[in-house]
Amino acid sequence: MTEQQLHHLLTLLEIALALITLPLLCVIAAPYGRHSRPGWGPTIGTRLAWVLMEFPTVALLIPVFLLGNHASEPIPLIFLFIWLSHYVHRTFIFPLHLQPGTKETPILIVLFGAAFNSLNAYVNARFISHFGVYEAGWLADPRFVGGLALFVIGYAINRDADRTLITLRKDGRPGRYHIPRGRMYRYVSCPNYLGEMIEWTGFAVLTWSLPAFAFALYTAANVGPRAISNHRWYREKFDEYPKERRALIPFLL
Ligand code: NDP
Repeated sequence: MTEQQLHHLLTLLEIALALITLPLLCVIAAPYGRHSRPGWGPTIGTRLAWVLMEFPTVALLIPVFLLGNHASEPIPLIFLFIWLSHYVHRTFIFPLHLQPGTKETPILIVLFGAAFNSLNAYVNARFISHFGVYEAGWLADPRFVGGLALFVIGYAINRDADRTLITLRKDGRPGRYHIPRGRMYRYVSCPNYLGEMIEWTGFAVLTWSLPAFAFALYTAANVGPRAISNHRWYREKFDEYPKERRALIPFLL
C-alpha cells in the first residue's frame, strides 16, 4: 500500500468516526465539564487535560507539514498559519484562562482526544503540504475567499463565546454556573460550538480538501449533540432561562 492510499484510508476512518460519534453522543453526553459523573475512571486537572489533548495539533502537525514537498510554498504556509492561529491558542493559551472550579477531566477522554487529534493532524498536514495540489491563483478563488471569511467569522464567535464563559466563572463563585447573556448568547446556548463548526467548515472550504471536510464533519458530530445536552441542562437548572434561546443554530435548533 502506498502512503497516499494509507492517507486516504485514514481520512475515511475519520469520516467513519464522525458517523459513529454523532449517534453515540446523542445518547451519552461526554463525561466532562457540566456532564461529569463518576464511573469514567481516574481524572486529571482540566488545564493539563486540554494541553495534552491538543498538543498533537501543533507538535505533530508542524513536523508532518515540514516534511511535505510543498512545505515552503506560500499557499500551504498560509493554510498552516490559519490552522495554527486556532490551535496555538487552544493548546497553550485557552487552558491558562480556565478558572478555578473547572471540573476535572477523565484520562479516558484525554487519551481519546489526543489520539483523534494525532490522526486529524496527520491527515490534514500531509494533505496541505504534500498531497494537495493548489494552482498559483488559489488565493483569489471564491472557495478560498469564502472559506476564509467563514473561518474568521467562526473564530470570532468561538473566541468571544469562550471569553464570556470564562468571565462568568471569574466574576462568580468557583465551580458555579451562571446564565451567559449578550452577543451570540442572545440566540443560542452554545455559540462556542457554533463558532467552532463554522471555523472548520470554513477551513474545509478554503483548502477544498477531504481531510478538512472530515474534520468539519467530526466537529459537528462532536459538538452538535453536546450543544443540545447543554441546552437541556440549562433549561433544567435555571427556571428563568430565556425561552426564545435555541441550542446551536439561531432561530432553528
Ligand atoms: P464548556 O462550555 O463546557 O466549558 C468551557 C469553560 O467554561 C469551562 O471552564 C466550564 O467549566 C466553564 N463554563 C461553561 N459554562 C459555564 C457557565 N454557564 N457558567 C460558568 N462557567 C461555565 O466548553 P468545552 O469545554 O466543551 O469546550 C471548550 C472549547 O473547546 C470551545 O471553544 C469548544 O468549541 C472547543 N471544543 C472543540 C471540539 C472539537 O471537536 N473541535 C470539541 C470540544 C470542545 P466546567 O468545566 O466546570 O463546566
